[in-house]
Amino acid sequence: MTETTVGSPVAEVLPGIWRATNEVVSGRYRLSNNAYLIVDGGEAALVDTAWWHDEGAHLDALFAASGVDPIAVSTIVLTHAHRDHAGFARRLASQTGATVALHRAERATVESLAGYQGLPDEASAVRWYEGHGFPPHEAQRIVSSKEPDRAFDVPDPRWLTGDDSIHVGARSFDILETPGHTPGHVCLLERATGILFSGDALLPRGHGNPHVTVRAFTPPDPLSDYVAGIERLRSEAGEISVCLPGHGPLVEDPLAMIDDHLAYAEAKLGVAERALDATPRTAFEVVSRMPWHGGSATLTDLEGDELFLAFADGFARLRRLVTTGRAERRIEAGVELFHRVG
Ligand SMILES: [Zn+2]
Ligand SMILES: [Zn+2]
Repeated sequence: MTETTVGSPVAEVLPGIWRATNEVVSGRYRLSNNAYLIVDGGEAALVDTAWWHDEGAHLDALFAASGVDPIAVSTIVLTHAHRDHAGFARRLASQTGATVALHRAERATVESLAGYQGLPDEASAVRWYEGHGFPPHEAQRIVSSKEPDRAFDVPDPRWLTGDDSIHVGARSFDILETPGHTPGHVCLLERATGILFSGDALLPRGHGNPHVTVRAFTPPDPLSDYVAGIERLRSEAGEISVCLPGHGPLVEDPLAMIDDHLAYAEAKLGVAERALDATPRTAFEVVSRMPWHGGSATLTDLEGDELFLAFADGFARLRRLVTTGRAERRIEAGVELFHRVG
């Protein structure tokens, strides 16, 4: 698939915080990817580096507009290891001497990028899908449909925990664990100002909804992990005044956005619940009964990354339905089957 960069605007969005956006058109999608530069007292740090496809023009523009010498960057924090957030981490680390920091649970994502969705080779990926009910030709099709990922190639990152903070001059940003979109996704919160960097955990309207997916490398119930993380953010909402997401514009009403995301997760669960009946079915069979594209498509109509994400997202809903007592699960001959309660 061809990606085209269509612009790289830069702005100082809050005092001492600059945003560079690289806009990428990829297939049917237009992605607006943000990298943020925090500047204080002669020091600087980056939060995400955005997509790699514009040769880093957005970062050159960021340093030029802010007047910050790249050498002043001491830390590059990645909210998670996806390519639209970590695209230039390696290049910037060698250009600036900065440390790249991401959560230690993100090792699973990093390792998954080197193989086939967390499995060592294509044949084992096909078997994984067959083990969740895919007919052989559909298993082959979904494995072939996935866009190849680029390996995460930062040689020696700093692995963070939820107890860490990132310091830039006199400013301090707490690492908040918000797993689910990826196993080690984090947000950063400056408690003194209420500024939250939300990565892909919270996205403004019109900039997509966070994918939460079950794959070979993920924890078993990532949607419950995700909801718990967003509920923790909600419990701290009094401390959050403004949100800087990984995609799209600054959000001035973070609480409303948090509630939107919790409502959306609940609505997705309802769709999955309605696809269940008394017959125990594989994940493939149940996800095939869910409507996609507002009801105009089913799973096997989808192609490319959309197919792979739809199944993984539908599967995540099933696992959460079981966790929350709204579905039952049994294992027959090693295959996981889901059905309505009762
Ligand atoms: Zn992501
Ligand atoms: Zn993203």
